[in-house]
Amino acid sequence: MSVKERYASALMNTFGPPKLALVRGEGAHVWDEDGREYVDLLGGIAVNALGHGHPALVDAVTTQLRTLGHISNFFTSGPQVELAEKLLALVGAEGRVFVTNSGTEANEAALKVTRRTGRTHLVAALEGFHGRTMGALALTAKAAYREPFEPLPGEVTFVPYGDEQALADVVTDRTAAVVLEPLQGEAGVNVPPPGYLAAARRITLQHGALLWLDEIQTGMGRTGHWFAAAADPAVAPDLVTVAKGLAGGFPIGACIALDEAAHLLEPGNHGTTFGGNPVACAAALAVIGAIEDENLLERTLVLGQKLRDGLAADPRVTEVRGEGLLIGLTLSSPRSADLASAALEAGFIVNNPTPDRIRLAPPLVLTDADAEAFLAAWPGLLDTAYSEEGA
Ligand SMILES: *Cc1c(COP(=O)(O)O)cnc(C)c1O
Repeated sequence: MSVKERYASALMNTFGPPKLALVRGEGAHVWDEDGREYVDLLGGIAVNALGHGHPALVDAVTTQLRTLGHISNFFTSGPQVELAEKLLALVGAEGRVFVTNSGTEANEAALKVTRRTGRTHLVAALEGFHGRTMGALALTAKAAYREPFEPLPGEVTFVPYGDEQALADVVTDRTAAVVLEPLQGEAGVNVPPPGYLAAARRITLQHGALLWLDEIQTGMGRTGHWFAAAADPAVAPDLVTVAKGLAGGFPIGACIALDEAAHLLEPGNHGTTFGGNPVACAAALAVIGAIEDENLLERTLVLGQKLRDGLAADPRVTEVRGEGLLIGLTLSSPRSADLASAALEAGFIVNNPTPDRIRLAPPLVLTDADAEAFLAAWPGLLDTAYSEEGA
């Protein structure tokens, strides 16, 4: 039996059947158990910033594991402190960092910070995604994710994303925090109107509420900037959560609390066994270092523009959204599942988050040749996806 067949009898059926069993990766390419090669345009869902097997990441992880692997939070290590310093420098503000093992845990830490304001009301956006643990899920609007687990903790008001007035209408002096993604990733890439996040900052300040940016998907270079909005002085958030691309595939997350919010959690308020693990922190430092050394932010902007322009040229693409290498495409018909299947068949991994949307979040090291191969294949993939229309 293949690995894919054995999966069903050994793993919980939480995701449905896996599309492929992968055995190897190199750069933006992966190979399945039958030896077929794919260009990975999803990058482990915006995670594999350096692709697979990047020497700087492999060296950092193996060297650190050989030197000092795990120590618990009774102790600290150079990589943990250096990573916290680096994240604060990239945001460009005074603060404190709590290192976790995933995005949802970074959001749980942020949620705990908001509780220490003495307020409990939270505001989040419709179509947003903040994770699957119970606290993060309480902030996630999608009914299919929430409803099987209700009641969820807290008192959360959802507002339409990008609507400044809707936000102003629900934030009160009882609101602990407003949590927003700078671009909504899981929704298939929703981009708010210019000035929306700065308006959220003004509204939260008027009511003494915290502004929390979930940059788990948009942060760490994905948009061609270190953060999509966290370092923008007009936005100046109190809390920033990051994860996905942070360590290029090694599990990690971080809650970055700025200015006064940095001191809301006190000794005993929170903890984690694995969070701040030296190997994960060394991996994150290697990713940040490689993004700097290889000018990957600039590369991400150039490559993102090239992909968006090329993909938009087909009239069956009605809208192209996103920044850098976080790209959402709207199709003229609900053919995204057919498109994703056609792409896989042709050796390209893409994601279909909604019936009419395709999301791309490839490694930032995607080559021009890979981008060009995908652009060349694109009209044919659309032909295949649309050929069954009405059938
Ligand atoms: C992926 C994601 C999360 C959850 O991160 P996990 O590591 O899967 O727990 C939270 N927020 C956003 C915006 C995400 O994209």
